[in-house]
Amino acid sequence: MREIKNLVCHCTATPKNVSIEAIKRYWREHLKWKAVGYHKIIKDNGEIIELAPDDAVTNGVAGHNSNSLHVSYIGGRDTDDRSEAQKKAMASVLKEWLNKYPKARITGHRDFPGVKKACPQFSAEKEYGYLYTV
Ligand SMILES: [Zn+2]
Repeated sequence: MREIKNLVCHCTATPKNVSIEAIKRYWREHLKWKAVGYHKIIKDNGEIIELAPDDAVTNGVAGHNSNSLHVSYIGGRDTDDRSEAQKKAMASVLKEWLNKYPKARITGHRDFPGVKKACPQFSAEKEYGYLYTV
C-alpha cells in the first residue's frame, strides 16, 4: 500500500456532456499519458465511475501523484457548474477515502504550489473540510 497524503478534487474543465471515453482518449492520444488522470470521475447525474484502483498512481497533479488520490467531476470549464448530485457524490468519495486514509488532507488541484489552473473552480478545503469531523 502506498501512503496517501492528499485527497485531491478536480474538474475535467470540459463541457458537462463530454463522455468519459472522450476524456480518456484525450489523455491517451493527445497528452500521451500511460495512466489515467484521476482515480474516480463523477458524471452530471452523480454516478461515480472508478478509473483506477487506489494503489495506482494517476496523473492528477504533476509532481504530487505518488501520495495522492484524485477525484474529478465532469464540468468546470469556466465556472463551478457542479450539479447537486455531483456535490454529494464528491463528498461521499472523499468520506470513503478519509475513512481509509485518516491522515490524508482534502485539497484542490489549484491549492498546490505553482499551479496556475482554477481547477476545481471551488475551495475543496472550505466546502468539504467538515468531512473530517463527521
Ligand atoms: Zn485538476
